[in-house]
Amino acid sequence: MNKIEHIGIAVKDLEKAEELYSKLFKTTPYKREKVESEGVITSFFKIGESKIELLAATNSDSPIHKFIQKRGAGMHHIAFEVNDIDSEIKRLKLEGFLMINDIAKTGADHKLVAFLHPKSTDGVLIEICQEKK
Ligand code: ZN
Repeated sequence: MNKIEHIGIAVKDLEKAEELYSKLFKTTPYKREKVESEGVITSFFKIGESKIELLAATNSDSPIHKFIQKRGAGMHHIAFEVNDIDSEIKRLKLEGFLMINDIAKTGADHKLVAFLHPKSTDGVLIEICQEKK
């Protein structure tokens, strides 16, 4: 894995959260993107080399909606950049990690993404992502 690509934060109200984090970071989001298949709308901030992804649910089936109902708004996942997501999924499975996505899928911000099950990572939801070629 190369680096932390971004940190995902689950929020109830994207507009309010954008306002709050814009004040905190002293910068505005550089993009907003809907991921229809996940039932989320995302908003990205860039702070130096780091990115923060705000995630809000667009419907009640959304994993973000379920997460917020269960645990409240807050830190949702850490995403690590990899060069070859397919071989990384294979490697992690061989190491005994449980994948939520056995096959990489299209995520926000022009990326292929796959999530590891928090059951196998001490309760932390981890995303691996690769820039789409
Ligand atoms: Zn993410």
